[in-house]
Amino acid sequence: MSNIERTLSIIKPDAVERNLDGQIKDMFLSNGFTIVQEKKIKIGKLEAEKFYKVHETKPFYNDLCTYLSSGPIVVMTLEKENAILANRELMGSTNPKDAKEGTIRKKFGISIDKNSVHGSDSPENAKIEIDFFFNS
Ligand code: ADP
Ligand code: MG
Repeated sequence: MSNIERTLSIIKPDAVERNLDGQIKDMFLSNGFTIVQEKKIKIGKLEAEKFYKVHETKPFYNDLCTYLSSGPIVVMTLEKENAILANRELMGSTNPKDAKEGTIRKKFGISIDKNSVHGSDSPENAKIEIDFFFNS
């Protein structure tokens, strides 16, 4: 049975700053994703805190929110069969050091905190995150 899903992808400040957004978008397209919605924006610290609220108890939460709001990001809704898992696979492990060959984070990630991309981790969060950026 087909299971076309939508997921939220963010090209984070470290990648936009290095002008990697075109190459990263090409990786999504060549892996069969459709970019349904897309915008380049800069968010404030408070918005970043809201977006990453699930991590509010983590020691890295404040730095993470400062970082996500530090420069322009590209936010996209991606669509594909099983898009949520497919995007997590294409992104690679959170720490680029552990990411497999051919993944976005292996190719472009600098460190665990500057790992170039975000992707939703569940159907529930994909809906919340897409609404956060595109239906608000
Ligand atoms: P992912 O982005 O792979 O879903 P998480 O949801 O666990 O990873 O974490 C969200 C983001 O927080 C990561 O992408 C990364 O930028 C940052 N992060 C995660 N763990 C750490 C850590 N130990 N130190 C610093 N930053 C971290
Ligand atoms: Mg996550």
